[in-house]
Amino acid sequence: MSRVDLAVLGAGPGGYVAAIRAAQLGLSVAVIEADRLGGVCLNWGCIPSKALLTGAELVENLTRHGETFGVTASGVTLDYGKLIDHSRKTADRLAKGVESLFKKNRIRWIRGRGRLAGPGAVDVEGGERVEARHVLLATGSTEWVPPGVEVDGERVLTSREALASRRCPERLVVVGAGAVGVEFAYVYAMYGAKVTVLEMAAQMLPGADPELADVLRREFRRKGIEVRLGARFEGAKHEGAGVRVALSTEKGAEEIAADQLLVAIGRRPLSEGIGLEEAGVSLDRRGFVQVDERSRTAAAGVLAIGDLAGGPLLAHKASEEGIAAVEFLAERRTLPLDHATIPSCIYAQPQVAWIGLGEAQARERFGDELRVGRFPFTASGKALAAAHSAGFVKILAEPRFGQIVGAHVVGAGATELVAEIGLAMTLEATTSEIAATCHAHPTLSEAILEAALAAEERSINF
Ligand code: FAD
Repeated sequence: MSRVDLAVLGAGPGGYVAAIRAAQLGLSVAVIEADRLGGVCLNWGCIPSKALLTGAELVENLTRHGETFGVTASGVTLDYGKLIDHSRKTADRLAKGVESLFKKNRIRWIRGRGRLAGPGAVDVEGGERVEARHVLLATGSTEWVPPGVEVDGERVLTSREALASRRCPERLVVVGAGAVGVEFAYVYAMYGAKVTVLEMAAQMLPGADPELADVLRREFRRKGIEVRLGARFEGAKHEGAGVRVALSTEKGAEEIAADQLLVAIGRRPLSEGIGLEEAGVSLDRRGFVQVDERSRTAAAGVLAIGDLAGGPLLAHKASEEGIAAVEFLAERRTLPLDHATIPSCIYAQPQVAWIGLGEAQARERFGDELRVGRFPFTASGKALAAAHSAGFVKILAEPRFGQIVGAHVVGAGATELVAEIGLAMTLEATTSEIAATCHAHPTLSEAILEAALAAEERSINF
């Protein structure tokens, strides 16, 4: 048996970051992790998928934009297996990096599956019991696969198998046009697959600003990626070396033959069979742990963060929740995490990013007085020079002072640009303060400046 101040169950970006912050604050910490350090994000999510996306962008720039710059690429060969190797190596390197951070911060990693054995105790497979003043649950989530769909890693894959598969199929069906589906559709299409994306909703990226989704769809069409909206996935059967995918639309039932099917419909929390309900932790009907604004569960001394606690399933949200939760424990924080300033980002090309209120929500709150400032990348010198002129920036500001309440960006660099708005929102900045900030020329960030100027009705370049 060992005794610590804080036992963390799960070492994803929620758990490992919380463990490091707790150690910095002087707590003794043990982390129980069954798999590799870094969780889904480092090993099977954010990082390896971004390695693939970088390859896809390179292919696109070379084969589709090269001629604009006088580069005619002939005899280009694409080795998808090598791309996967690079992606795996990147993940390995980062997982090792977390291990050395644990050593540096004197955090003990206990390898194995853990189970909550009541408030203040975690049992680890193999027999060790860890007693702790506080337990932080950060077991994350896993792919949700509809009943009856058999994932074999050859014909039917989730993102997990896709990140390990060295094969790029000729014909791929992606079910789900959320962040994961969109990113993989782009990668496979750039490496030569004929990709069809099925999405049940009436727009890509359900929940995103429809204007962003429209630009994404148009650009995907230009890249030869077929996106079928209002197309409900009904099931899939293995057929020879491939798969037959059943769908229904308002026109009726249909089937598509493909070499591979990627299921990217959503994720479910890893909250089953780890003693949560027995210990008094409440779950919602989908199995996510219910927490208050300090990440406290219904069981005394037990906290939960990250994907396990629901909300947007994002790595940076998990990390911020982890930091806030342990800072509260150590009495080093008084304000809860502001979930309104957590950005959402999709890293395909064009990139999509947003933060704060959506336009419809903002209109409900502020009515017709809402200030909306737009700037298209077709008017950005930097975007035109780079031949990436699709997309726009839209900034939303409340009518009285012009305080920024949200921003929506689609186009090159969107995922980086949204950070400026995040800072502005944290500082409760107004569009006039952004307008008063000198932005270097030529940069994509000028699009933020110009959208802020537009919200003030004093556009210069548009
Ligand atoms: P996880 O990362 O899921 O980590 C949980 C850890 O707990 C795992 O290591 C698991 O092994 C361990 N565990 C579970 N049960 C037990 C147990 N009983 N005992 C011991 N250990 C246990 N988010 C972004 O913000 N940006 C992105 O670009 C992005 N890209 C993504 C791409 C893909 C393909 C996927 C699938 C996800 C992506 N995400 C992205 C989402 C992101 O990966 C998750 O939001 C994030 O990993 C959640 O962190 P977490 O710490 O809550 O849980």
